[in-house]
Amino acid sequence: MNIPLPPGTGDEGMLMVMERVVLPILKDWKPDYVINAAGQDNHFSDPITNMSFSAQGYAKLTELLRPDLVVLEGGYSIESALPYINVGLLLALAGLDYSKVQEPSGGPDRESQSKSMTEQVARVCAEVIDLWNHRSEVDLEEIFGTTSFFQRKRQIYYDTDNIHESQHEYIRLCSDCPGWRLIYTHSTKTRDLAAAVLLPWQPCQACRVEAREQHEKLITGDELSQVIWQEPFSNLRQSR
Ligand SMILES: [Zn+2]
Repeated sequence: MNIPLPPGTGDEGMLMVMERVVLPILKDWKPDYVINAAGQDNHFSDPITNMSFSAQGYAKLTELLRPDLVVLEGGYSIESALPYINVGLLLALAGLDYSKVQEPSGGPDRESQSKSMTEQVARVCAEVIDLWNHRSEVDLEEIFGTTSFFQRKRQIYYDTDNIHESQHEYIRLCSDCPGWRLIYTHSTKTRDLAAAVLLPWQPCQACRVEAREQHEKLITGDELSQVIWQEPFSNLRQSR
C-alpha cells in the first residue's frame, strides 16, 4: 500500500494513518514478520524534506507498529534529529517509557498540522481502507486491459541529485507469476536511452524464457546505451 501524505503532515496525520489504515490491514493480513524501514526524513528539522513529524511521533509509531525488526534508512538532520528519534525508537522497541525524549533545539520550530490537512489525511485514509476492503471485487481486466502487457509512463525526480528520469514500463500480465518487466529509461542529463529487463521473485518458466529472449534482442540492437538484466536470487547482474 502506498499512502500519500501532504507536505507538512505531522504526528497527528501519521498516527491517524497507522490507526485507521496500517494496523487494520496488518490485522487482516497477519504477516509472519513486520519490518519497519525506519526512514527519518519526515522529521520537522530535516533539511531536505518538508514534513512535520517529531521524535515523540516516531516513538509512538514504533509502539503501535510493534515491528520485529527496525532498519535505519534515510534522514538528513544527522546531528540534530537522528539521535533524538533513535533514542525514542529504541525505548519504544524495548517497551520502555519514552515520554522524556525531547525534540532537538536550535533548528526550525515545529509547525502544527492544520485542520484542513487533518481532514485531507482522513480522506486519504478512508479511500485507502475502502480500496483494501473491496479489493476482491475489483475487475482487474477493466484496470489492466486484456492485452499481454500493461504499460505505464512516469516521470521521476531525484531531489538529491537533481535528475529527472523518464520511464516507459511494460509489465507482462501473467496468471502464473507477477510477470517480468521491461523498462526504457532516460535522464534529462544524458538523454541516452537505456533499458532494464527485470524478473520478479519466483517467475514462471514461460516468463523467464520470454524475458531472456527480450534481453537477447535488446543487447543485439544498437539504440540503447545500456541494457541491464536483473534477477532476484541471483548475484548475476549483467550489463553492457
Ligand atoms: Zn509468468
